[in-house]
Amino acid sequence: MLSSPVRHYVGGVFDASGDPIPLVDPVNGRSAGEVPSASEELVDRAVGAARDALRGPWATWSPADRAQVLHRIADGIERRFDAFVAAECADTGKPHELAADVDIPRAAANFRNFADLLAGRGEQSWHTPTPDGRGALNYTVRKPLGVVAVVSPWNLPLLLLTWKVAPALATGNTVVAKPSEMTPSTACLLAEVIAEAGLPAGVFNLVHGGGGGAAGQWLTEHPGVDAVAFTGASATGTTIMRAAAARLAPISFELGGKNAGVVFADADLEKAVAGTVRSAFTHSGQVCLCTERLYVERPIFEAFAGRLVEESRKLRGYGPMISAAHRDKVIGHLTRAATDGEVLAGGGVPRFGDERDGGFFVEPTVLTGLAEDHPAVREEIFGPVVHLAPFDTEEEVLGRANAGPYGLAATVWTGDLARAHRVAPALDVGIAWVNTWNLRDLRTPFGGVKASGIGREGGDHSLDFFSEPMNVCVKL
Ligand code: NAD
Repeated sequence: MLSSPVRHYVGGVFDASGDPIPLVDPVNGRSAGEVPSASEELVDRAVGAARDALRGPWATWSPADRAQVLHRIADGIERRFDAFVAAECADTGKPHELAADVDIPRAAANFRNFADLLAGRGEQSWHTPTPDGRGALNYTVRKPLGVVAVVSPWNLPLLLLTWKVAPALATGNTVVAKPSEMTPSTACLLAEVIAEAGLPAGVFNLVHGGGGGAAGQWLTEHPGVDAVAFTGASATGTTIMRAAAARLAPISFELGGKNAGVVFADADLEKAVAGTVRSAFTHSGQVCLCTERLYVERPIFEAFAGRLVEESRKLRGYGPMISAAHRDKVIGHLTRAATDGEVLAGGGVPRFGDERDGGFFVEPTVLTGLAEDHPAVREEIFGPVVHLAPFDTEEEVLGRANAGPYGLAATVWTGDLARAHRVAPALDVGIAWVNTWNLRDLRTPFGGVKASGIGREGGDHSLDFFSEPMNVCVKL
């Protein structure tokens, strides 16, 4: 929990104005404070402050100056580490070790990573021959896009927000960020850290509130916003793309997924089971990269399913769904799946005999026996649910894994090196893992194909999106 109320941060000033939206603790369903909903006028002021800051002292900061301030922001996150962890856990209900081992360290790493990358960025140049023999020198400079809107979801609130804010600032843009209305607290702490780190007023702004008909829509539709970086549901992406299209603003989208895993009979069974427990049930399945459908080669199907069920039943200390509405959506899928297929493990709401019975928990669930076009196999559930299906040939499983509207991530479990290199690149996804899951190097391209996203984040890919190359040609 935050010691002070959740506030907006506009033009260097904290502000708690706006109708309150109630916050609910997903662990027990109790009231957990409120978040102010920014008015359209405040969103307009935030964009105005960001536009003004583009012409202020920020414009003269060198890449080295910007790298330094990014490191200071990372230092500030690390100094207030415990407060960040507590706020992230209070908003999301996620287990303490998840926030302490992943979310908050990764947020600091996002700033350090882009600060360090800046140091190694050069500019391109070309010598061009001319008829007079003296030639011309072309060189490319990179300029910021301008005011960037960052809109982020509730599942990894600070991690995903900083994954965009850090490269946007690194490349000299100004930012107006809007976190999810369900998880606003760590963004507010970040604004405090940024205020202390010495960024000029208006370079980073934060507004809270909902999406459609509220801060999210007003921000992404604002004519003063030059680019939109968004992570969230694919349907929301469609709406935001339409808004950005009206003024031809560039977009970077990280959207939903229905990630497949493939386990070949030659895989190390125990490693594949342990990896699948992680890939299906981390953060109770509320990570965009989680495996929701797993294809297991027929000779090991029974053995694999048996071990996965055993391990999933042992899971303790898992967190809740973000809200009652999301829990009900997940349970809706499970109820229908129980009628049309088979529930091997879980399938309902757990009973703890303590305050968690008022929260929004769903048991880790293993399903099987559903057709490929069943909603539980085709639609993103975003809960602790994995569907197992047997397969017979490599060609068949590639066809099934590549079907459907999404293409974010996939896992391949095999002991055959040649097969690994054959199958992984043949998957229609942006990210494939072989014999592991969610092993991340922040310099690598991250993103999805089809309905899972547009563009890539990570390393130079982010720095390229948030800056515009310009060519200067000098006749010699
Ligand atoms: P969401 O799309 O409902 O909301 C995301 C953000 O967009 C929130 O801040 C919300 O207020 C805002 N928003 C909603 N409607 C809007 C509108 N009309 N205009 C402007 N802003 C609007 O998504 P969610 O439920 O918060 O997050 C879960 C989804 O995010 C899942 O689909 C998940 O797969 C996806 N996700 C993708 C990645 C990735 O990297 N590909 C990572 C995490 C989550």
